[in-house]
Parts: sequence; C-alpha cells; structure tokens
Amino acid sequence: MTDSKHIAAVITSRRDVTPELWIVRVRPEEPIQFVPGQYVTIGLPGEGRLIERPYSVVSSPREPELEFFVELVPGGHLTPHLYNVPVGASGLTIRRAAKGRFLFDDRSGRTCHFMVATVTGVAPFVSMMREFAARVEEGEPWPHRIALVHGASVSRELAYCEELSEYDRRFEWFRYIPTISRTWLDPGWRGELGRAEDIVRKHLDALGFTPSGTTAYACGNPNMIENVKGVFQRAGYPKESFKQEVYW
Ligand SMILES: Cc1cc2nc3c(=O)[nH]c(=O)nc-3n(C[C@H](O)[C@H](O)[C@H](O)COP(=O)(O)OP(=O)(O)OC[C@H]3O[C@@H](n4cnc5c(N)ncnc54)[C@H](O)[C@@H]3O)c2cc1C
Repeated sequence: MTDSKHIAAVITSRRDVTPELWIVRVRPEEPIQFVPGQYVTIGLPGEGRLIERPYSVVSSPREPELEFFVELVPGGHLTPHLYNVPVGASGLTIRRAAKGRFLFDDRSGRTCHFMVATVTGVAPFVSMMREFAARVEEGEPWPHRIALVHGASVSRELAYCEELSEYDRRFEWFRYIPTISRTWLDPGWRGELGRAEDIVRKHLDALGFTPSGTTAYACGNPNMIENVKGVFQRAGYPKESFKQEVYW
C-alpha cells in the first residue's frame, strides 16, 4: 500500500543470524532519503490495523535497498509478524520520512568518536561506516578517529563482526572492539570479555580520547545506555557530547 505517508516495500533477502536475530534487505517502491544514523518506520497489517515500529537503517544511502537488523521480541506486536514474512511477499510499508537525530557529529569540531552498541544497536554505526569507508576510498580527507564497542551475550549475535573487523584492518582511524558477556557459553572467543559498559573506560583511556575532543554515542539497550552515560560523566565528559538512541 503506497499512499501519501507510506511506501510499499518488498523483502528481497534475509539472513538468520540466530533464532531471534535476523537481517533483511527491503526494496521500497520509491527511494527513501535518509542520513546514516536515522531510522525509518516499518509497518505491517495485523490485529485489524497497521502496526508500525521504528528501525535504524543498516545500509548506507548509496545502496539501492534498505537493510535492517531485527531482534524478535516474544509477545511483541510487530516482530513476531515481521519474522514470518517470507522473501518476496508484499504487505510491508515504510513511512516516507526517515527520522532521527542520532547522527555523526561532524559539526562540533570534535574529531574523536566513541560509539557503543548492544546487539541490534550496531545498525546506525554500520550505516555510518559503510558511508565513511566509501567516502575515504573516493579520496575525501578524513580527520576523524572512531572507536566502536559492540556488546552481545555470545559472539554469534555480533552479526556485523566480519565487516567491521575488515574496516578495522583497512583504516587506521577505525577501531572495532567486540565484547561478549556470557563467556562460559563461548569458550572459543578470543575478543574482549564483559558487558559493553564494563570495557568503555579502559578503551577510552587507551585510545587517548579526551572529554574536550570526543563525542560519545550509545545505541540499543536502555540499561547499557544509562550505564555508559554514567561512565562518560564520571570521566568528565560534558552532557552535550553524549548522543543516545534508546530502542525500548
Ligand atoms: C529509534 C529506534 C530505532 C530502533 N531500531 C531497531 C533496530 O534496528 N532493530 C530492532 O530490532 N529494534 C529496533 N528498535 C526497536 C523496535 O522499534 C521495536 O520496539 C521492537 O522491534 C519491538 O517491537 P514489537 O512490536 O515486536 O514489540 P512491542 O509490542 O513494541 O514491545 C513489547 C515489549 O518489549 C519491549 N522491547 C522492545 N524491544 C525490545 C528488545 N529488543 N529487547 C527486549 N525488550 C524489548 C518493549 O519495551 C515492550 O515492553 C528501535 C527503536 C527505536 C525507538
């Protein structure tokens, strides 16, 4: 259903990451303009109405399709239906207007950026990195340093680990720091151990990031965001240098 507010869209591919996490690529009938970091509102008919929820866009604005990384919330209104939509089926809608102010800070003059995500909260950062990698490869001067801590319970939930590790290898200005908290379930894991918020201070200091030169970003789980905010406050970071995207 395409109308003045909504654009019809088709799921073109799907990758199941775990039984509760999946990645979909979606082709809207008309292009949707957005900036990396923004979200769009996805809708599906159900329960006698259109059920809509916001989802951060994973893809970069250069890609022809929109990509999303979604967690199944048992008992939720939308995700159990969305989970069952097969590739190729119609019925999905996306609101025309992308929204959100969780954008990369390229205006304040701060050139260090410390990003923290839990599981699906990595979505806006992947969109930013796809865009920045393309710009740098086109020869755009790049004054920024970016560190991204990505936390999950177990490593298989770190859906974009390979892509982000590849950026880490390719660009000296980008550090990807994946961490897992249920270490006993993942004996082969060789990365960081602990929840995302538990390793922020250590890496902030090791990188030499300072309160006056750094913008902090946190996305995903509300408890993580509150804890990370506390870490930055205790480290002397001003409130206005902290950006957050709370998923629920
Ligand atoms: C700006 C923004 C961007 C978002 N981007 C994403 C995204 O990229 N990927 C994604 O999966 N979700 C994202 N969300 C969350 C998404 O909008 C829905 O809230 C989520 O998918 C649950 O929808 P639902 O209708 O199935 O559950 P609902 O019926 O809305 O919620 C049921 C209950 O579960 C809680 N809940 C919602 N999400 C979770 C969760 N992940 N874990 C535990 N409890 C939860 C709700 O607070 C509520 O109490 C985003 C939210 C916001 C505000």
